[in-house]
Amino acid sequence: MKVLKFGGTSVGSSENIHKVVDIVAKRSKDSRILVVISAVGGVTDSLLIMANEAVSKNESYKTTFHTLKAKHLHIAEEVLNSAYLEAVIDTLTHELDQLKSLLDGLFLINELSPKTQDKLLSFGERLSTTIVIACLEQHGLKVQLKNSQELIVTDNNFTNARVNLDNTYKNIKDFIASDHHDVILFPGFISKSETGEITTLGRGGSDYTASLIASAIDAEDLEIWTDVSGMFTTNPKLVKQAIPIEKLSYQEAIELSHFGAKVLYPPTVMPVLLKDIPIWIKNTNQPEEQGTLITNINQLQVAKPVKGISNIDNIALMTLQGSGMVGIPGFSKRLFETLANEKINIILITQSSSEHSICFAIDESDAQKAKTSVDQTFQNEISLKQLEPLIVETELSVIAVVGDNMKNHQGISGKMFSTLGKNNVNIRAIAQGASERNISAVISKKDVKKALNSLHERFFEDNTKQVNLFITGVGNVGQRLLEQIKQQKKYVKAHHKVNLRVVGISNSRTMVLDADGISLKDWKSQLDSGENASLNGFLEHAKSMNLRNSVFVDITANSDVANSYDQYLKESISVVACNKIACSSNYDDYQNLKALSLKYSAPFLFETNVGAGLPVIDTLNHLMTSGDKVNKIQAVLSGSLNFVFNNFNRESTFHDVVKQAQDEGYTEPDPRIDLSGVDVARKILILARESGLSLELTDISMENFLTESAMNANSVDDFYETLKSDEEHYKNLYLSAEKNNCQLKFVAELDGDKAKVGLQEIPEGHPFYNLEGKDNIVMFFTERYPEQPLIIKGAGAGADVTASGLFADIMRLANN
Ligand code: ADP
Ligand code: ASP
Ligand code: MG
Repeated sequence: MKVLKFGGTSVGSSENIHKVVDIVAKRSKDSRILVVISAVGGVTDSLLIMANEAVSKNESYKTTFHTLKAKHLHIAEEVLNSAYLEAVIDTLTHELDQLKSLLDGLFLINELSPKTQDKLLSFGERLSTTIVIACLEQHGLKVQLKNSQELIVTDNNFTNARVNLDNTYKNIKDFIASDHHDVILFPGFISKSETGEITTLGRGGSDYTASLIASAIDAEDLEIWTDVSGMFTTNPKLVKQAIPIEKLSYQEAIELSHFGAKVLYPPTVMPVLLKDIPIWIKNTNQPEEQGTLITNINQLQVAKPVKGISNIDNIALMTLQGSGMVGIPGFSKRLFETLANEKINIILITQSSSEHSICFAIDESDAQKAKTSVDQTFQNEISLKQLEPLIVETELSVIAVVGDNMKNHQGISGKMFSTLGKNNVNIRAIAQGASERNISAVISKKDVKKALNSLHERFFEDNTKQVNLFITGVGNVGQRLLEQIKQQKKYVKAHHKVNLRVVGISNSRTMVLDADGISLKDWKSQLDSGENASLNGFLEHAKSMNLRNSVFVDITANSDVANSYDQYLKESISVVACNKIACSSNYDDYQNLKALSLKYSAPFLFETNVGAGLPVIDTLNHLMTSGDKVNKIQAVLSGSLNFVFNNFNRESTFHDVVKQAQDEGYTEPDPRIDLSGVDVARKILILARESGLSLELTDISMENFLTESAMNANSVDDFYETLKSDEEHYKNLYLSAEKNNCQLKFVAELDGDKAKVGLQEIPEGHPFYNLEGKDNIVMFFTERYPEQPLIIKGAGAGADVTASGLFADIMRLANN
């Protein structure tokens, strides 16, 4: 014989009930089967809601009742033909009338006892079985409906009754022996106490009903039919990448369900475990899928140490601490006895080795009761200041990593906690069972999704790391970056195990955000119709999405954006900037960002600040971290100025060449920043700082080659006008260089702790002499490279190379 249990969603619609009938019909061909049914999905919740409405004198219980009534009548009308419908409607109406009277009574007396609550909740399963039995008969099956309340005997612990196993098993066995139907249908969840009162087995208890029946009759197996294809590696509602687990041991299933895998009600496992009856978890919507098999498997056959990760929300963490506890035997006994007397279920316990404190996690709804009773028990110690009153923290969750084979593998907890730490998930308490079958941690409720996703990635996704990008500034460079990400996404995932997702895009007008990832095919139209842009709004979105491996990418030249980096870093959101402002403003600010980056384990990368995509800063960092020391840096760092002086000659005008540089995207939006030398000064300043010097921009000596009027121009247009009128000045610079057989290069130099920038005539033979187009060159003279410098040379401006530099920074931190 087999026992099949169908959950709320499986009987939640006429379409699904048809599927249930098909499955039952197929199974009953091979053997006699026993079917347990839950209430229609959401009905038990609705019953509780209307009870609470009624007792609080809220007339809306009537509307809730009507919705519930309509739902059942509607399902019946859809699934049944006229031969069955009338009788079923009669029974439903009769039961619903009883329910309504009970609710009206609650409304009058204004009180809901646990006993009445159970009576009320029992209607859910009574109503659903009324419909399903008729459907099975209509399909031609020989079915018997048996009220489980006549079989399952419990104590009087209403809402969570404990089963008297001996009596229950005997009742079930006797009944099955006396009945000869092919299919017997039972309502799940409901039971009766020894004194004849209606009780229930706890929320989700239909699974348990089925397990009791399976155990009583030594069933071949127990099948739990639900709305997912098995027990998943983690909660599939929170982690998209979760996958069904093929096989689990009973103990693993107990741990996972105990720590929140709702698909199986925790007490379900024990009765079948004792009889070695396998449990299958199957999907009513996809019966062909294999599902999960839970058996007594030998743990050594199991390759993976971690089998699943689960979570329980709405947790309160309670801490009892004080010197009065140290070394006193019986102390914990008093504490836990107090909680047991109040019927408070303890989910996790930790005690510090100094015995100075005990910490335990319970359901948030028990927190007040626990506080009152524990403070009462230890009243004496509290008044003598040997103990502090019980400390209560709420808004927490427990997450647990589970697997039989974890004990044979070192480093699981290391991996677990480093993954959480890297993602800025603060851990409030930790517990590991002596069996080493689970490691659990208490964390903030708001971090659960991020924690589950990061841990799932670490343990199940072959280490593929999701990186979530918030990109601000989508001009030339930004657009290229998005284009490159779109092109490279697949490759990077396959070869570098990095899953790049753009989750936020902003320009100065609008912004678009989507935690599931913005499609890069039509990001422009999405951005156009996005909400109004705001720097703070963007940050708030990034904070509230709270995604793992978040990165803020600044592709603007805006100082307000640069001023917001600290706030991102404080949220452990990494920053990748091509904007130079942050690194070249006050030294203290630059240092502060570096410190925040370290403190919050969030990289702050700005390779594109110098030499666009060339690995200048990265190389310098490598030199420094490996113990080298910079003596001198000589460099041509302005792709735009190099372009200008390479194209400026006897024939061209300075104005036209500068204009061309701007049109081709080689200058900053305001070309004066390049031409005045400020941009180069910022770059050498950044290199100086990265070499370990604490210089300010004002320490960089700037030899300016522009005319007075160009320097004093009020606008970009005025500036261009001065280039025209001062053409002779610029032409003279050229002619002088030509006469000396030199090339004009705008050079940046750091020598010791002195830095300067300025236009120089470079003689033939010098490495700078032949520097072409918009190329940059950097020569590092260091202790390891004293005479022959380490040279980095290549394109130092342009949207594509800058975008690829940003891309490289993103990959650097993804591989971090
Ligand atoms: P039923 O009504 O069939 O009893 P439940 O809602 O009680 O169904 O349990 C199924 C749900 O459990 C799934 O829809 C899923 O959202 C949730 N769930 C949480 N954790 C897990 C997990 N690890 N594996 C599968 N489902 C899970
Ligand atoms: N209907 C009950 C509940 O919702 C029992 C069950 O579905 O397993 O908790
Ligand atoms: Mg369930």
